Amino acid sequence: MERSGQVALSFANISATADGASSIFNYPFFKLLRMAHEVHVQNFDEQSVQISDILSVKTGGCSEDCAYCAQSIRNGIKLPKQPLLDLATVISAARNAKRRGASRFCMSASGRCVSSDTEFEAICEMIRSVKALGLETCATLGLLTESQMARLKEAGLDYYNHNVDTSPEFYPTIISTRSIDDRIRTIEIAQRAGINVCSGGIVGMGETNEDRIKMLVLLANLPTPPKCVPINKLVKIPGTRVDDSSQIDDFDFVRLIALARILMPRSYVKIAAGRNTLSEAIQALCIFAGANALFFSEKLLTVDNVAPGVDKTLFDKLDIKVECPKLIDTTK
Ligand code: SAM
Ligand code: SF4
Repeated sequence: MERSGQVALSFANISATADGASSIFNYPFFKLLRMAHEVHVQNFDEQSVQISDILSVKTGGCSEDCAYCAQSIRNGIKLPKQPLLDLATVISAARNAKRRGASRFCMSASGRCVSSDTEFEAICEMIRSVKALGLETCATLGLLTESQMARLKEAGLDYYNHNVDTSPEFYPTIISTRSIDDRIRTIEIAQRAGINVCSGGIVGMGETNEDRIKMLVLLANLPTPPKCVPINKLVKIPGTRVDDSSQIDDFDFVRLIALARILMPRSYVKIAAGRNTLSEAIQALCIFAGANALFFSEKLLTVDNVAPGVDKTLFDKLDIKVECPKLIDTTK
């Protein structure tokens, strides 16, 4: 049996190509899990999980046509538009998140980009205020320019979320108002600005396992792999273009987590939306396979997440401890 050092070496030799990654994804299940776990424990504490909370600071009325999203005006869902929240509301939510054990607070705004400079400055103030509470900060604001990203960095932003969502081949089926290259360009702008990138995608929209694998290979081949890779299970929103797609098989989901761990050994792998549809046993397999980040909010923007207290029960059963904030001084 390969020793753990050899495991890392042998995987390092498999350049993250779709064929190489596909053969790993299809390893016998327990061999894949064992190898992913060995890569995981070389880079992280297997009993530790990073917890985030997320708040929609501006909701609905989005001009993009993301097939999965309740906030797109193109999906015909009458989601009430919520203008940008006031600062006090955001700070109160962040304080609550910290009190409940989150180390990172994510602020999400609907929209292709942030065109209003007044709104952009208000979001920078939110970031400064949340950071001052001792929380890592994350924002997800759509496509941004170099100068906007520099202002976020200056405001102390730790993470920028910008998901590639699926494979380059399947992307046009899901989103036509922008290209996957538009996303990659913003990811690279964030990385050049010295901001950690959080980028992953959604599974269960009608894509194949090959699409899911290609999504991870794309991320692993970025100039710098994302610091955090969220894997969302599609939460079906009635009226969206993917509301009748077949769910991903639970064990394929575990395999994908294991593959993400092997391809991106030093990235956090996050089980994001749809976690409330995974049993405790499947979540435990995902954590063994290398998942080490979760959202614990009851709501994930417009969809439900896990109920309060559910995670504490699971963490007690698995002896999981929660990571403290790692405050990176991004003002240097
Ligand atoms: N508007 C920003 C953008 O598009 O980047 C951020 C909005 S939210 C953080 C974006 C992510 O949540 C999407 O990239 C997708 O991965 C996930 N998401 C949105 N709707 C979802 C759904 N119905 N089921 C699962 N994941 C979803
Ligand atoms: Fe708009 Fe983001 Fe939803 Fe796409 S995922 S429709 S960009 S809010």
